[in-house]
Amino acid sequence: MKFELAERLNALPPYLFVELDRKKAEAVANGVDVIDLGIGDPDTPTPQFIVDKMAQAIRNPAYHRYPSSIGMMPFRKSAAQWCEKRFGLEIDPASQVCCLIGSKEAIAHFPLAFIDPGDVVLVPTPGYPVYHIGTLFTGGETYYLPLVEQNNFLPDLDSIPQEILERAKILWLNYPNNPTAAIAPVEFFEKVVDFASNNNIIVCHDAAYSEMTYDDYTAPSFLEIPGAMDVGMEFHSLSKTYNMTGWRIGFAVGNKELIGALAKVKGNVDSGQFEAIQDAAIAALSSDQQCVKEMKGIYTERRNVLVDGLRSIGLDASMPKATFYVWTKVPKGYDSASFCALLLEKAGIVCTPGNGFGEPGEGYVRFALTVSKERLQEAVERMKGVL
Ligand SMILES: *Cc1c(COP(=O)(O)O)cnc(C)c1O
Repeated sequence: MKFELAERLNALPPYLFVELDRKKAEAVANGVDVIDLGIGDPDTPTPQFIVDKMAQAIRNPAYHRYPSSIGMMPFRKSAAQWCEKRFGLEIDPASQVCCLIGSKEAIAHFPLAFIDPGDVVLVPTPGYPVYHIGTLFTGGETYYLPLVEQNNFLPDLDSIPQEILERAKILWLNYPNNPTAAIAPVEFFEKVVDFASNNNIIVCHDAAYSEMTYDDYTAPSFLEIPGAMDVGMEFHSLSKTYNMTGWRIGFAVGNKELIGALAKVKGNVDSGQFEAIQDAAIAALSSDQQCVKEMKGIYTERRNVLVDGLRSIGLDASMPKATFYVWTKVPKGYDSASFCALLLEKAGIVCTPGNGFGEPGEGYVRFALTVSKERLQEAVERMKGVL
């Protein structure tokens, strides 16, 4: 029997981290004490009160049956209330919220509701790979919007050719941004609302890092902008906010036709998330958010250690106002890949080459703040030794 992969799998972009992963495994096998600043996955556990709620919820036989695919009403109410408290949004839990099995699945599934072959999806680059892959799986076409430093890592919407605008149906945005750690000013979001309504383009805002902010910065919701609810929706995730990446829980919120269309897709491919997990997520969303404050304190300390350290050894690192990433230009004489290779081979440090997130990321690396500040200090010392 000969298995032939479908075109959509053959067309997947090459996994640029293969070589790095191989080298990392090799270093670990050789007994190197590797400091992994590669993965965007919180290193500290889910807060105890959320775990306790889960332990209790799992014993409830009512939760042992099929869930509703859009999420149970108490979860959707809790998400709507969180949006009201946090952003001042008025959300109808019955029609404007959909529970997600982690936001990644919905980012991948949403284009199925609107994209046919020949339609265009506008995707920021460097960026989270799923925006393009979801498009690819529908047979749609990705048009990349470069995020460059001169434009504060915001896409230049005026540069999109008319021919593309006519076929474009979805615009993906992600602020605070992975991997650049950039934030979006409200004026940019206002411009996006005009752009979307003038060109009849759906705005999908990935808000996975809305709570992971520092100093006096608080991230707005795209949906706060007047008119945004007519053109778009937002994807929220409990993964980074509450150290819950393994639990697979998030929600989409926004325009009710868009939420309805996403729910229709999901109703045909999954049967929703385990209601005990939804119950634990309610505990997280309706809590006093003290746990979020504590995590922000921890990441702030780590950020300061790493950024100050990188600067002290002459690297051009900017102090992020949000996310747990530090996006840094590589030193002269290196590109993303050769600098990552140097750090791994000579210092036992794993980081992510910027071009792995898209071509305009060339010349940068991404460090994740997902190890203790002592380990970050150690990483800086090691880098000092090799640079
Ligand atoms: C981590 C992340 C997500 C969220 O993932 P989940 O599926 O909710 O765990 C979404 N978008 C970006 C940009 C991310 O970095």
